[in-house]
Amino acid sequence: MNIKMNRKIKKALVLGAISGAVLGMVITFAAANRAVNKKEEAMAVTTNKLKTENESLQSQIKQQESVEAAATLSADQTDNWALTLVNNDYPLDTNYAPELKEIRTGYSVDSRIAEDAEQMMADGEAAGLSMNICSAYRSYDDQKGVFNTTMQEWVNQGDSYVDAYNQTKESVAVPGYSEHALGLALDITSADYQELDDKQADTPEAKWLAENCYKYGFILRYPLEKKDITGIVYEPWHYRYVGKDVAKEITEKGITLEEYLGVK
Ligand SMILES: [Zn+2]
Repeated sequence: MNIKMNRKIKKALVLGAISGAVLGMVITFAAANRAVNKKEEAMAVTTNKLKTENESLQSQIKQQESVEAAATLSADQTDNWALTLVNNDYPLDTNYAPELKEIRTGYSVDSRIAEDAEQMMADGEAAGLSMNICSAYRSYDDQKGVFNTTMQEWVNQGDSYVDAYNQTKESVAVPGYSEHALGLALDITSADYQELDDKQADTPEAKWLAENCYKYGFILRYPLEKKDITGIVYEPWHYRYVGKDVAKEITEKGITLEEYLGVK
């Protein structure tokens, strides 16, 4: 009897120990599971952050690659320097550095077009107009500064780097893709109306320039309703030097530089 009882106690003790151990294991497992879940959450946050940063870096790398690819292109274009194409598909070598000449305080252009640009301004003024240059040559670094400042503003407002990049692209040319880096582009407004909007086209200065700029080798680079070709909205203030013969042909035909070069 005693032996039997002892066996029962033994059995209960053993079972108790086993279930105790199992319960302990369950508790330990649950605690471990919670810790693992927390760690997974933290890792998911980190992964997302890394993913965003990676996407941003990837797009920057892509950018850099196409800018570098354009170095060869612009080197090939040295004979036809006045026809160098820079747009969203044709970036410019980041090291491109034309010889500059200042035509207004703080505003320089490629020295090869300085005389024509100055003549155009002088003739316009002799016709009683008051023209104001608001942008001329801008280096890659100038453009990068403008772009990064704008992009940082979007990031500060809570945008991811990718979103901020895309937002900035809407209003600022991506460094390497601005025609102003050629030193062949001038933004000219009326001194009386300096806003960069469609109404600029109604000023006497813009009307005179649109009619006469070809005589000095310039074209209105981003005409109305040509965004699908140029990639840029109507800019009645942006003039681009292409040389007198080409400017005449482009103006007479009512085409864009892309169409003249046969890339669109
Ligand atoms: Zn411009």
